Amino acid sequence: MKLDPALIARTKGFLNEVEGQMLFELAQEASGHGPCLEVGSYCGKSALYLGAGCHENNGTLFSVDDHRGSEEQQPGEEYFDPELFDCQSQSMNSFPFFRRALVSAGLEQTVVPIVARSAVAAKAWATPLALVFIDGGHALETVSSDYAGWSSHVIAGGYLIFHDIYRHPEEGGQAPYTVYRAALDSQLYRELPAVGSLGVLQRIEPASLSAGILRHGERENLNH
Ligand code: MG
Repeated sequence: MKLDPALIARTKGFLNEVEGQMLFELAQEASGHGPCLEVGSYCGKSALYLGAGCHENNGTLFSVDDHRGSEEQQPGEEYFDPELFDCQSQSMNSFPFFRRALVSAGLEQTVVPIVARSAVAAKAWATPLALVFIDGGHALETVSSDYAGWSSHVIAGGYLIFHDIYRHPEEGGQAPYTVYRAALDSQLYRELPAVGSLGVLQRIEPASLSAGILRHGERENLNH
């Protein structure tokens, strides 16, 4: 499907076009092997790209966010957007924006919103994932918890992607990079070329199987 550039432009978010295009391509490939999941839906910018990629395979993107804004998006904080403040509940609510973006893009049958805190959704999760994109809160505790909650579901050959990877403190916050380094140090992933501030890791396949992404069933067979 062709994404409408005007829709992308008017959808709030912190992803640039080059990063978005990369997400589209990775989701297009990964969704042929299993569902994809992102943490941090916000107003839907990344879901448009990831969802469009999944749509090519009649695949699914799960998009997790409690839509109450992350630490840095609360009133008085650096990334607070008063348009997203719901006066009735006196809290942030980005869900109406997110839903509107999905409807406009025709992605309601592709993107499944999970309106919950990432850790709450992860606690009950059991479905293998071909791609996980971590772009929720940027506090170290939050990124670490997102990594701990979701990375174990990434299938061999699948992608674990982080947004806001800055290798030097003067470029931006270091929490995502710290967790990205920990993922690399686990030796379960190989590093693919970065695109903008996207850090892209690929889950290493068992040495005995060299080609293609393993499907869940195949992986099960390996374990028995
Ligand atoms: Mg981000």
